[in-house]
Amino acid sequence: MAAKIDLSGVGMTSQRTRNRLTDRLRDQGISNEGILDVMASTPRHLFVDEALAHRAYEDTALPIGYSQTLSQPYIVARMTQAILSLGRPKNVLEIGTGSGYQTVILAQLIDEVSTVERISGLLEKAISRFRLLGLSQIRYKYDDGQLGWPEKQPFDAIMVTASPRVIPQELVAQLSPGGCMVVPVGTPGNQELTLIQREENGFRTEVLEKVRFVPLLGGKR
Ligand code: SAH
Repeated sequence: MAAKIDLSGVGMTSQRTRNRLTDRLRDQGISNEGILDVMASTPRHLFVDEALAHRAYEDTALPIGYSQTLSQPYIVARMTQAILSLGRPKNVLEIGTGSGYQTVILAQLIDEVSTVERISGLLEKAISRFRLLGLSQIRYKYDDGQLGWPEKQPFDAIMVTASPRVIPQELVAQLSPGGCMVVPVGTPGNQELTLIQREENGFRTEVLEKVRFVPLLGGKR
């Protein structure tokens, strides 16, 4: 069963503010009610510094330190909708935990969520947020996510939240039959959000839209 977050002891902004965000997502073509529900109830302000908390329910990307960003809510919703559009994934691997916001959205929709981050300072903060929200079933790893998570493969879905120049074959190889991966591929200034589905005899690739992500980098720090 996908998890429910525990909101006791978590300060929340008004429901009206959060509904305004989901109304906007609906206008932008997000139609999966499950995604809209969890985005309306997830306290995004906990995933940024206090000084930025008042902007947490705007549809905008926000800095999280180490030159990284928490994605714009529309993009979080769009990527989530993409991997749910091709079936009902039982497990998902996220590359690029960052603040942990996308991870927490996934954990409320998909039974098994694993996430990999290469910056230890970001991962530590994300882990404390998972604990605060009672999401102890999320699996995480401090590593270079370009390698995926070989011990846990295959995955029904993989979501890459940083941009590689080309489709990472190591990750594609960890998809289960029928599994899919959503990944922003390209060069800075020219990235395309791409949905790849593993089929019986190869792969089907669909470009969803132009996007802007931080680069997928090698190694750990
Ligand atoms: N999903 C995040 C988005 C964070 S931005 C959120 O909701 O906040 C992208 C993240 O990808 C950054 O934290 C960055 O450190 C991480 N990243 C970049 N290259 C990586 C790699 N090779 N392995 C794991 N994480 C990586």
